[in-house]
Amino acid sequence: MHHNTLWNDAVAFIRAKSPATFEQWFSGVQFDGITDGIVSLRARNIFVRDWVDRHFLPTLSDYLRSQTGWSVQVAWSVDGNLERPVAFGIANLPSLPIRPRALAAVGMTGPTSQGGQDSATRPPASSGHGAHSLKAAPKTVPVEGLNPKNTFANFVVGPSNQLAHAAAIAAAGGGGPRYNPVFLCGGTGLGKTHLVHAVAHRFQSEQPGARVLYVSAERFVNEFVQSVQEGRMAEFRSRFRDRCDLLLVDDIQFLASKTQTQEEFFHAFNTLHQADKQIIVTSDKYPQQLERMEERLVSRFSWGLVADIQGPELETRVAIVRKKAEAEKIELEGEVIVLLAQSIRSNVRELEGTLIRLAAKSSLLGHSIDLDFVRQELAATVSPRANEACVDDIQRIVCHHFKLRSGDLLSKDRHKSIAFARHVAMYLCKHRLKCSFPELGRAFGNRDHTTVMNAVRKVDRLRSCDPGVRAHLDAIEKKLGTCA
Ligand code: ADP
Ligand code: MG
Repeated sequence: MHHNTLWNDAVAFIRAKSPATFEQWFSGVQFDGITDGIVSLRARNIFVRDWVDRHFLPTLSDYLRSQTGWSVQVAWSVDGNLERPVAFGIANLPSLPIRPRALAAVGMTGPTSQGGQDSATRPPASSGHGAHSLKAAPKTVPVEGLNPKNTFANFVVGPSNQLAHAAAIAAAGGGGPRYNPVFLCGGTGLGKTHLVHAVAHRFQSEQPGARVLYVSAERFVNEFVQSVQEGRMAEFRSRFRDRCDLLLVDDIQFLASKTQTQEEFFHAFNTLHQADKQIIVTSDKYPQQLERMEERLVSRFSWGLVADIQGPELETRVAIVRKKAEAEKIELEGEVIVLLAQSIRSNVRELEGTLIRLAAKSSLLGHSIDLDFVRQELAATVSPRANEACVDDIQRIVCHHFKLRSGDLLSKDRHKSIAFARHVAMYLCKHRLKCSFPELGRAFGNRDHTTVMNAVRKVDRLRSCDPGVRAHLDAIEKKLGTCA
């Protein structure tokens, strides 16, 4: 049997077992081939890799063994940029209430699940849940605490936040099966709050009169405590349990150790969930990693969809800077945009903050935001640690250019084409980043610094005498320079 056919059969077999879960996880997995009984798979991130490894691979290996008689093994690599994911993710699933725990009431959600009906032609508050209560209040009540700039239109989607974005769109009524709750998690400044605000804006414009509640967990705690003290618990409960069509709770990790508030939130959660009201929770950790949080709450957080947001890739950062500069009417050259995106990698908030600071300073000094100005400013403010991800970025783009696997550059493989790509990557890192030879050696699979020195020297020489090499370098540098 042909290997790809074998793989396709295996995929069909596991997909049939639980389609929605399959779509969710395999949209982050790519099949790279089977050789000598080894299945090469690529995962969008380590979280996807571990989950799929644990939950799907036993079935997959059993199936492959039953078909071929071999005991197959799986070789994983991790790569933020999948070109051919096995599945297409929840946003592209037909609108079927597939998972018993994902809300079955697709009727409440947006135009797609209504068979493509345009929201403009749909009478407000006529469809689905809460319609009876909406009749009394068809006017849109402004939601407290929302930043009007945090819309879907202003959100840049990339591989690092794709699943979270798709889940948010579906939760806001944009189609695809709705998951309840949606648990968005990821480090600080990566767009969690932005996404939940966007859901609130979209939900309200789709369903005028819908009652949307947005609170930080901190505020939930404070209001709870205050209500207890002032004997207004009935009102508090009615607000969070009965008078709410969409509940958004930001930074749930703040509930840690607050046992009474957790109890109260648990009941609000249950009431809303049973009434099919959408709940979205954000957190800086995965549910299982939340500390001092009641087990029953933790388990509920994983009922629907847990979607993580990772640090954005270089291309996404470039797009974010570009978008932000446009929005703020800051004029930036392409090279400056790329330099900013390369220098500040961990956190979108920091990236935006730097941009705004640069703009402010440049207008105060009457100086244009050119490359030199930005270099100077960055040198003064950005920590040298920022270089680590730049090595990653260069490695990733070189891999992509030479169509290698992400681990190849760090591997011991001395195959000619891989070794050449590795040398090119080392050369580019040396020339573009402020890294020492030993640092680069470590970043390339713990190689000796002399290896890096030789590689850089060699590529330098080839660049001046070999047009083929020059063409490769030009192409890669172009990608590094203008990747957006
Ligand atoms: P978090 O809640 O995860 O700490 P925020 O949602 O507050 O992060 O995001 C921090 C800043 O970065 C906000 O100004 C937000 O608009 C911006 N931001 C984050 N991710 C993106 C993105 N993908 N596209 C555009 N802006 C983003
Ligand atoms: Mg936040």
